[in-house]
Amino acid sequence: MSKEFVTRFAPSPTGFMHIGNLRTALYAFLLARANNGKFILRIEDTDQERLVEGAVDVIYSTLEMTGMTHDEGPDIGGPNGPYVQSERKDIYMKYAKELVEKGGAYYCFCSKERLEKLHEDGDLGAGYDRHCRNLPKEEVEKNLAAGMPFVIRQKMPLEGSTGYDDSVFGHIEIENAEMQDQILIKADGFPTYNFCHVIDDHLMGVTHVVRGSEYLTSTPKYVLLYDAFGWERPVYCHLPLLMGKDADGNVSKLSKRHGSVSFQELVKNGYLPQAIINYMAFTGWCPKDTNEEFFTIDELTKVFSIDGISKSPAVFDYEKLLWFNNHYIKEMPLDEFMAKAKPYYSEEYAAFADNEKLAKLIQTRISVFPEVNEKAEFVKGLPDYDTELFVNKKNKTTIEQCADIIEYSLPKLKDVSDWSNDTLFELLKGIAEEKGVKAGAVMWAIRIGVSGLAVTPGGATELMEILGKDESIKRLETSLEKIRN
Ligand code: GLU
Repeated sequence: MSKEFVTRFAPSPTGFMHIGNLRTALYAFLLARANNGKFILRIEDTDQERLVEGAVDVIYSTLEMTGMTHDEGPDIGGPNGPYVQSERKDIYMKYAKELVEKGGAYYCFCSKERLEKLHEDGDLGAGYDRHCRNLPKEEVEKNLAAGMPFVIRQKMPLEGSTGYDDSVFGHIEIENAEMQDQILIKADGFPTYNFCHVIDDHLMGVTHVVRGSEYLTSTPKYVLLYDAFGWERPVYCHLPLLMGKDADGNVSKLSKRHGSVSFQELVKNGYLPQAIINYMAFTGWCPKDTNEEFFTIDELTKVFSIDGISKSPAVFDYEKLLWFNNHYIKEMPLDEFMAKAKPYYSEEYAAFADNEKLAKLIQTRISVFPEVNEKAEFVKGLPDYDTELFVNKKNKTTIEQCADIIEYSLPKLKDVSDWSNDTLFELLKGIAEEKGVKAGAVMWAIRIGVSGLAVTPGGATELMEILGKDESIKRLETSLEKIRN
């Protein structure tokens, strides 16, 4: 019988979701779903000094917005709870004591002063000289009975080496002598990450540990813990580094100077969760046997596999993210687009936020929501533009000729009763024939005359339909006057 696949996402509640963590969550989620397994959410909050108010809600809302549903977690419970590490303190202490019994750990009573002095005097760095490693049992018991403060340290083997096979990076082997007798339980009774995540992963039945490559070389310490307890090691799946492109063309670890690095900020800046997820899936993984790039999260669960993960650093490309976002914006039903775009309109365009025709023009032309404003610029009013705009090589237009076209068109436009794109288009085409010029020339003259902008999200007649008859005519009259004076 094949074993159940269990993965987990184990964020520390920092108050924002770094996109590197989002990718970790995504790959862990996809791996579980692709194998009909379970995906657990666990909150790693043992660093009590770094707790941030509301930070756990950020985690829940990210998972919800992206569609990463978990099967067990603090909010929904499950058979292996509690799922918040600070609520599991007693469990860790029990296992730490058990590990001492088994010979894999020891009590350390060194005072802060002694350790500080050690670091000042010697070349141990932040290391420890293993002073308490071989304290006689009686002395340990006496100290404990006297209520002396202690930490519990992992007893690293002094010789040989420890290795494991990472499913992305291959075999990793570290000399035991290089590994510190790291602290497992701190003086305040809280465990360190190094200890509690191992206990939890084991107790929660995690079969595949998916996480960032910063843990790649510390994992030998963790497998030693599994071995000391006599537990089966999980499969490790460390993810490639996430880099950003620097201004000089080099790459460095993805950080704020490359752009927004939190999911919340990206969403606030007008990126869609489904676009972020689709792009994130490709930052370190790609599907086999297809060049397809667009995948919903459900589709990803069908094609995701560990062997598609690359160990080379992935560069987070903001341009590519824009491209994905543009795709998902274009695909939205119009009403959904309008609802999503509405909050991004600045005050001067707010009155047009519910205009369906404007929304239709804009929807296909933006990559990210705040761009609605630059696209809507033509509704604001006729700017004080340079009449050179009327000169267009392709349509062979001159300023004078445009003035003539506008003058000729104005009375005909005033006669239009059905002010619609189609009617206006037919009318302008007819005018071109009457004047013996290309339709493009008339469209150009009217478009510039009505907008005063070189670039607009639609043609002359589309703009006029949105602006309405009175406003369009008023603008054309103003433009005509502008040229003639
Ligand atoms: N709490 C750790 C982090 O956020 C989790 C690492 C792991 O997944 O083991 O980096």
